[in-house]
Amino acid sequence: MSSRLSFAPVAALCAAAFLLLTSTGCQEVPVTGRSAVSLVDDKDITEKALVEFEQIKSMQRLSRNPAQMRIVHQIGSRLSRTVFWDVPHAEWEFVVFEAPGVLNAFAMPGGKVGVFSGLIDFCENEDQLASVLAHEIAHVAARHTHEKYSQGMLLKPLGTAASIGVGMSTGSTGIYLPSVGSAVGSGATSLTQSAFDRGKELEADHIGLIYMAKAGYDPRESLRLLQRMEEHIASQGGPTSNGWFANHPGFPERQIQINERMPEAMAIYEKGETQQTHTVIE
Ligand SMILES: [Zn+2]
Repeated sequence: MSSRLSFAPVAALCAAAFLLLTSTGCQEVPVTGRSAVSLVDDKDITEKALVEFEQIKSMQRLSRNPAQMRIVHQIGSRLSRTVFWDVPHAEWEFVVFEAPGVLNAFAMPGGKVGVFSGLIDFCENEDQLASVLAHEIAHVAARHTHEKYSQGMLLKPLGTAASIGVGMSTGSTGIYLPSVGSAVGSGATSLTQSAFDRGKELEADHIGLIYMAKAGYDPRESLRLLQRMEEHIASQGGPTSNGWFANHPGFPERQIQINERMPEAMAIYEKGETQQTHTVIE
């Protein structure tokens, strides 16, 4: 097969990229410093996320468990303060959904975060739950959804790209175990189409590890939770085709990378000047 491309499609692609780049452009990812292209309008994607989040809230049963709501709001408060300068326009909202057995959470552009009660039940302590939320918030801070759609736009002619800019799904970053589709209902398809590529998931692990350490949470608990989740999945008969392992890199790869980043995270955690409380989840 020839690797040569004809001039016309390349020119059209470049023109599309140039025109879109003039209104958006390259941005630096927090923590990693990677340069990422964002061709989607932040206002458009945030507005879409807000609509979708309200739809999810109307479809899901909201938790009435004050202890669970308190712990999620406490983590949310600490993490949102930590990431303020990385996501300055976010209007953070943390909602707990009553969904026993659903080990999942998601975050959307604009700062909307959902946590399913099964995940809270599964975590042994506040730090473990914070590791999941920090990973999710890292996807938002790194603007992975923007980048994902931008990459799609660069592969399409300009007209299609423009329509994607208006009609795209917000791609909330649901993670941590299978059944989010059934937990959210068939209407919220973006949650089940939320997989990022391996590189972005590892990047979210790295950024999330630093965020949780900055917020005063013990970064070692992220590994403990990953280990427990792997054991849980194994006890359930292994990963499913649309489950957590399908959307995220396997445990060994994540473990290796988190271990590599752990000294940096521990230095931040141990330097923490404020003595934080760490709630044990009963
Ligand atoms: Zn993720």
